[in-house]
Amino acid sequence: MFKKILIANRGEIAIRVIRTCRRLGIGTVAVFSEIDARSLHVREADEAVLLGPAPSSESYLVKEKIVQAALDHGCEAIHPGYGFLSENAPFAHAVVQAGLAFIGPSAKVIAALGDKISAKDLAIRAGVPVVPGYHKPLTSLKQLERVADEVGYPVLLKPAAGGGGRGMRIVAAQDELGPALKSAQDETRKGFGDDRMFLERYITTPRHIEIQIIADQHGEVISLGERECSIQRRYQKVIEEAPSLAVNRELRRRMGAMACALAREAGYANAGTVEFILDERGDFFFMEMNTRLQVEHPVTELVTSLDLVELQLQVAAGEPLPITQDDVVIKGWSMEARICAEDPSRNFLPSTGLITRYAPLRGEHVRLDSGIESGSLVSVYYDSLLSKVISWGETREDARRTLVHALNRYRVEGVTTNLDFVNAILNHPAFIDGRLSTGFIEEYFQKDALLEQPRERMEAMAIAATMVYHNRQNLVRESLKPMAARVGPSHKPEPWHRYVVKGDEHVFEVQLLGSPASPHWSFTVNGTDYDVISPVFEFYRRRLKLKINDQYQYFRLEYQGNFIWVAFSGFTCVFEIYTPREWALARFMPRREEGVQDKHLISPLPGMVVDILVKEGERVFRGQDLVLIESMKMECGVSSPCDGTVEAVQASPGKAVETGDVLITFKS
Ligand code: ADP
Ligand code: ADP
Ligand code: MG
Repeated sequence: MFKKILIANRGEIAIRVIRTCRRLGIGTVAVFSEIDARSLHVREADEAVLLGPAPSSESYLVKEKIVQAALDHGCEAIHPGYGFLSENAPFAHAVVQAGLAFIGPSAKVIAALGDKISAKDLAIRAGVPVVPGYHKPLTSLKQLERVADEVGYPVLLKPAAGGGGRGMRIVAAQDELGPALKSAQDETRKGFGDDRMFLERYITTPRHIEIQIIADQHGEVISLGERECSIQRRYQKVIEEAPSLAVNRELRRRMGAMACALAREAGYANAGTVEFILDERGDFFFMEMNTRLQVEHPVTELVTSLDLVELQLQVAAGEPLPITQDDVVIKGWSMEARICAEDPSRNFLPSTGLITRYAPLRGEHVRLDSGIESGSLVSVYYDSLLSKVISWGETREDARRTLVHALNRYRVEGVTTNLDFVNAILNHPAFIDGRLSTGFIEEYFQKDALLEQPRERMEAMAIAATMVYHNRQNLVRESLKPMAARVGPSHKPEPWHRYVVKGDEHVFEVQLLGSPASPHWSFTVNGTDYDVISPVFEFYRRRLKLKINDQYQYFRLEYQGNFIWVAFSGFTCVFEIYTPREWALARFMPRREEGVQDKHLISPLPGMVVDILVKEGERVFRGQDLVLIESMKMECGVSSPCDGTVEAVQASPGKAVETGDVLITFKS
């Protein structure tokens, strides 16, 4: 086995690889960019090497520097993680040329599988079913029209190079082919320097099922079961689980056999993932093979009790696989939520800044793979994944509940995250029932398609808000009392306290009975009784743990002026709390004026202006994208806050902007 390796990555995955190395007694060398100098992965590693300035092209993507760092520090191998250089054949080649081991398949195999067209050829040769289509580079629009007719609409236009869902276009009818081809080619040429496109049938409401395989250098290939990754946004995975409800023992065996056949045909060694699409009839088709460790590998680890990084290291060191196919047993269920720095309320724009508060969670059957801590900087330079929360349970429902509880008590402050969005998905009735497809988010979580909150959930949140409010009022009241009055327990029975609690459009009449001296409380909310046990109060943690009618629940909360913001199971609400007297008065107070109309288009994030989509004097409409900004490897449109006419354009393509910079001014 290796004595020391270099990890050519950052964030949670670098830390995750370091963790296994430490357990196995393998030394670790981290690499970092200037902006990452104080980040967690640098401190976790035994040694660390500065690569260069923040942009990946000057640091995490500079092959020569990374190989040199490995040689200088006496490493025997390089683990590439995912992203960055993990699927870069020239890098794998350079590593091996330098006399080091690459912890992944050979450069030749990466090249053959990285190209989706040659990968389909390989699949066909291995007898693996592929989506019906035309799997050669398209050369003209004429040809495209003919091929699309043969395949049948809707069709999916796909880039041969590419990944992360970029450059794919669904085309429903012939007249959309031309524009779709052009925009897809523009995108992939820019992103991957390659604009070869091919075409396949677009499968409607499919599930994304992938098979994890591991192969050694002696020709042994085994399958470690499937993962379901159907919950996607813009073709990017959001929630993953293993196993899948859609896969029975027989289908698992067949898909596993196909994945192994493909790996054998390719001469594959190391961990890899074969992605399939499963249609409503139960037929599955090969999509692509990812020649690296996947982001979502932990769900496989939790149901197989295997450490995939350990297996990767053993295989890369030339050892035979320590297990056979018969040793692979799937036990229980596991689910993963990806926590990303992005703002769901602003169309998932990346969010950057300093993590000002971080309360990572512990708990039985919960695993946290995290790359951040209080004080970490989330910059525009790298992707927005902050951490992954993974749960395990005997059943799917156990795993789901454990994950929901974990997210309810997970706190990140300083940057906006998708935490409540993923939690809302986990609590959606269709998700609970397992009715998944890759269109799930579009179908159930479209803008404005707000879900009606179940009554009990709103009432639980109202209890949490009132509890905190009441106790804080009490603390204040206590501290104002003269010392003498505070000594000794009072034997006077506590009265029922009454509050009017307003949240969204709901008004609750809340009554509570209890005293800070005991954890037992009685509540009535609009006439329904609840037994509540409040074990501890730690306001500074901004987390509240309550036992409501025998069920432990966790809430995140924040004071916002006199309001209390509560997040619970994917729902958030700001509560206003009044005594009955205050409520009677408040109802007669004049309403505040609606905000004046916005005269400026403000940049909602730091980044680089890519394109201006309007000209001076042009009429624009609220919601229309006016400027394209690139940040964290993502392009996002900034949309107009109003209907109006463009007076002046302040932004210019190629220039960096900060949050709050004026991009466009409108005529008033
Ligand atoms: P990437 O390299 O971007 O991951 P994939 O080929 O794996 O590209 O496709 C990404 C996602 O696009 C899949 O997970 C699936 O949701 C969707 N997709 C791919 N091919 C098809 C298809 N033929 N029909 C419907 N959806 C598809
Ligand atoms: P777990 O370890 O499973 O996350 P704990 O009960 O240990 O669950 O709680 C986690 C953290 O939340 C603890 O560090 C504790 O300080 C905090 N906490 C627990 N209960 C409350 C509460 N009622 N109010 C505020 N913070 C709490
Ligand atoms: Mg894919």
